[in-house]
Amino acid sequence: EALNKILDIKGSIRVFCRVRPFLLSDRRRIHEPISIGLEKVVVKSVGIRKEYRYDKVFHQAATQEDVFVEVEPILRSALDGHNVCILAYGQTGTGKTFTMDGTNNQAGIIPRAIEELFRQASLDNSSITFSMSMLEVYMGNLRDLLAPKVASRTHEVAAKCLNIQTDPKGMVEVEGLTQVQIPDTAKAKWWYAKGRRARSTSWTNVNETSSRSHCLMRITISRHGDDSKAKAQVSKLWMVDLGGSERLLKTGATGQTLDEGRAINLSLSALGDVIAALRRKRGHVPYRNSKLTQILKDSLGHSSKVLMLVHISPCEEDVGETICSLSFANRAR
Ligand code: ADP
Ligand code: MG
Repeated sequence: EALNKILDIKGSIRVFCRVRPFLLSDRRRIHEPISIGLEKVVVKSVGIRKEYRYDKVFHQAATQEDVFVEVEPILRSALDGHNVCILAYGQTGTGKTFTMDGTNNQAGIIPRAIEELFRQASLDNSSITFSMSMLEVYMGNLRDLLAPKVASRTHEVAAKCLNIQTDPKGMVEVEGLTQVQIPDTAKAKWWYAKGRRARSTSWTNVNETSSRSHCLMRITISRHGDDSKAKAQVSKLWMVDLGGSERLLKTGATGQTLDEGRAINLSLSALGDVIAALRRKRGHVPYRNSKLTQILKDSLGHSSKVLMLVHISPCEEDVGETICSLSFANRAR
């Protein structure tokens, strides 16, 4: 029991790194700054040589399937009753959305997880039901992406409806957040597509869709035992496409963009602080510093499982950001 507990804590935070392949739009140089080992990333550039270790590293040619195989065990933990948090971190354009959502031909973690959860549930003797919620966190405001009717396209209005509550047991609930039952994979994917559409319509410029906000999707798993009167065992699986981690100086942002960038940077550093505190196993974990960490509080604790996927660019001009992302992820590990 005690040994199990130790192993459990040790294994509760895992960090993977994925390097995006070169795109046609990238300026390729003869010298490529990133080299990859099984559990190692080396960054070599002018006057720089840095080496980082992670639980797993995916090279440029790694497929969605390769990634999912490594993610699968954590889904089993969610079905076993643990709260789970899968986080995609990285500079804008490094493949966070590709990893989480994927494309039509190359499904990412979320659609694969939906399939897998239903498959596993069908093999299980106890009855398991799923429900889903999706929200966006933008400049500290929350927006319900599955709300029946989006009252306004501005974040501010919708944000007023949502408050974060913690019950005496430490379970977090976003007050008023829509939660839909998902009886099968088709319905799950339908809602998920709806949430994604709601997210993009809130942005005027499609290219900016995801870089300045965090997109959080939650699948709540309820396991009902034989005794119909007994309370169901409930666990949460969060799958989060985080806002871009790029620093602001480089982008020359001003005004609104600068504020948005600052908000993202603050919440990401709050997330980093929480994960670092969990790793140190120190008493105090500073959840209160951002909405993001408040929402994820009960899924970023000692009894939950966290998987952070840090995404990096293969390009020379991104080396600065790459090192920042890798260092952030190292802190978590
Ligand atoms: P982010 O969400 O981090 O801003 P995206 O997921 O939008 O980045 O990725 C940027 C571009 O790179 C997209 O066109 C995406 O399809 C492509 N891309 C990212 N990662 C991969 C990958 N592993 N394989 C193929 N294309 C990728
Ligand atoms: Mg994205």
